[in-house]
Amino acid sequence: MKSALNSHGDDGYQVTQYDLELDYKIVPNRLSARARIAAAAARPLSKFGLDLSGFKVAGVHVDGRAARFSRSGNKLTVKPAKPVVGRFKVEVRYAGNPKPVDGHWGDIGWDELTDGVLVASQPIGAPTWFPCNDRPADKASYRVTVTTSSAYAVLVTGDLVSRRVGGSTTTWVYERREPTSTYLMSVQIGRYEDLAMPESQRLAVPRSLVPAARYDFGRQPEMAVLFSRLFGPYPFGEYVVVVADDELEDPIEAQGMAIFGRNHVDGRRTYQRLVAHELAHQWFGNSLTIADWPHIWLNEGFATYAEWLWSEECGGPPVAALAAQWRARLESLPEDLAIADPGEAHLFDERVYKRGALTLHALRGEVGDPVFFAVLRSWAEAHRHATVTTEQFIAHAEAHAGRSLRDLFAAWLERPALPRP
Ligand SMILES: [Zn+2]
Repeated sequence: MKSALNSHGDDGYQVTQYDLELDYKIVPNRLSARARIAAAAARPLSKFGLDLSGFKVAGVHVDGRAARFSRSGNKLTVKPAKPVVGRFKVEVRYAGNPKPVDGHWGDIGWDELTDGVLVASQPIGAPTWFPCNDRPADKASYRVTVTTSSAYAVLVTGDLVSRRVGGSTTTWVYERREPTSTYLMSVQIGRYEDLAMPESQRLAVPRSLVPAARYDFGRQPEMAVLFSRLFGPYPFGEYVVVVADDELEDPIEAQGMAIFGRNHVDGRRTYQRLVAHELAHQWFGNSLTIADWPHIWLNEGFATYAEWLWSEECGGPPVAALAAQWRARLESLPEDLAIADPGEAHLFDERVYKRGALTLHALRGEVGDPVFFAVLRSWAEAHRHATVTTEQFIAHAEAHAGRSLRDLFAAWLERPALPRP
């Protein structure tokens, strides 16, 4: 089968900024948009690719001149009037009915809710709402302008810089200055109450869920304090949790944001571990983003380990007990997955999460607490707002430990069989 992941992205150029103007009509689910993309190419390109799923493209300009373009699958191939090299600008005008893409990972991308919109793009859903260089290593800044019905709140991953009410529609402008991968950009449209919380946190929730959500997310500021102590300062300005008024299979992280379903809120903190997990992604996944998808354990193993750290901190089962519990669970599952490269269909396999966390626990046992926590913190600080690989993490851990850890990482990450205790 053709790899969906590998068909996305073009390594011939790097985007520096996306400026997206979106006009969205909720009832007909109609998006009319213009994307202005500032990019740079190291070598001359007579053509280049953007990822865009669906939509009718009305026109493409490169450096102000009309460019030829063609569509094939999710690829928009642009042929500029003359080859581009160094800095160049692309403008794409497009319109249509956005819809999610389906695949191994369920429906991802721009998704209509019962009453609003949710965007959750990991790993390759970003082209469902804007033309982009859709690979995680291509981080850029963003300006996103959304005009839609004034009856709805619009939340975009970034800082709100203006909001203009124009009668029946309102125009919201957001800026995301920190380098951000395409899959971590998100738009949320709904009838949300906006609740302020300590530690620069906010909750956007349907009115009916306000009391339960206040309770369920009530310890999230303390989680931020713990994670800041362990991993270094929170990497963004705000942290916004959106609770959609629909059910979601899993919560999902975006830049400075996490999206939960109404099924994750019950007023009993049943899903507290997921609250910790999504917050931890702001360090591991969002600030430090994997350079390519095979390194996914650097996101999910770390976020899972953060769940365990929070559990111990708040008086729940300690890390050692959770590690033993999940090791027993893994022993009951097939040992046929290499965590360092689980393959496209198993990117979000439970074993990647739990064995990834157990890899960190094994490292901790090997090097001791002072070195282990120094490794985590300096890792998050050294690669803040950058991209990372498994090789880099191993080298980083070895530098702190002062010795080779190849055997440990090979056993946990490369060989499918669980290392014997
Ligand atoms: Zn996760």
